Amino acid sequence: MTCPRCRSDRTVRNGSYREYQRYLCKNCDRTFNDKTGTIFAHSKVALRRWLFSIYAFLRFNTSLRQLQCEINVTHKTIHRRIECFTRALDAPSLDLVGPVEIDEVYVSAGKKGRERDRQSRSRGLSTRGRGSYESDKPPVFILADRGTGQRYVIPAKAADESTIRLLLAERKEESLTVYTDGFRAYEPLEEDDAFDREYVVHGDGEYADEEVHVNTCESHASQVRRWLSPHRGVSKDKLTQYLRAFQLRRELYRKPGRKALRHAIKATL
Ligand SMILES: [Zn+2]
Repeated sequence: MTCPRCRSDRTVRNGSYREYQRYLCKNCDRTFNDKTGTIFAHSKVALRRWLFSIYAFLRFNTSLRQLQCEINVTHKTIHRRIECFTRALDAPSLDLVGPVEIDEVYVSAGKKGRERDRQSRSRGLSTRGRGSYESDKPPVFILADRGTGQRYVIPAKAADESTIRLLLAERKEESLTVYTDGFRAYEPLEEDDAFDREYVVHGDGEYADEEVHVNTCESHASQVRRWLSPHRGVSKDKLTQYLRAFQLRRELYRKPGRKALRHAIKATL
């Protein structure tokens, strides 16, 4: 055992903190317990309730409103702790092998849930045209690397050339094969030797030209929408953390319960 503050192993038992064993670090002279330095520190709610909440949130896409009832805490308590969990998740590190499908999806993510609701209703059901960060419909890029089988979901401020270049920058080989749709922001990739861009034009009824398509991105995008739907209040500045949780969720898919939970908690340490 090491001290969470100074990493020294000169620790001794030192009474208790609530139901937890407390320890004293003889190096920095401070006490700690099992929760110190974790996302569960200073919570009065029993740890197993939090573990249950995180598990249900990731595995079953349970809304925070429902979790609040399940573990019998206030709205503020559940929001604070789940968001503390999602904030602790690291950004995915891209290491593209290719061919890579890239596409964007535009999700509704306003500053305040209510304002956004009113606005989108007045616009009716029409969602034509691409959204923007300013209009509370930020672009979320979806990358599907066929070389590694990895999927990445990354929100952005704009769907423009520089964002796209940044997303495709982390690659293994000099040249990367990229499949896109006919969106203009992908066009500059064609003049660049670092990319071999091929695209499908959806408007022409041409959906999949053998290898060249973005169907993987599209089906992944519908999963992203489903993931976000119980959390309608997600604002655009919290979108990144919710999408990292989505990414983590995918890593848990085939893992049995206990293993899945351990993986999820480890991701925050
Ligand atoms: Zn210490």
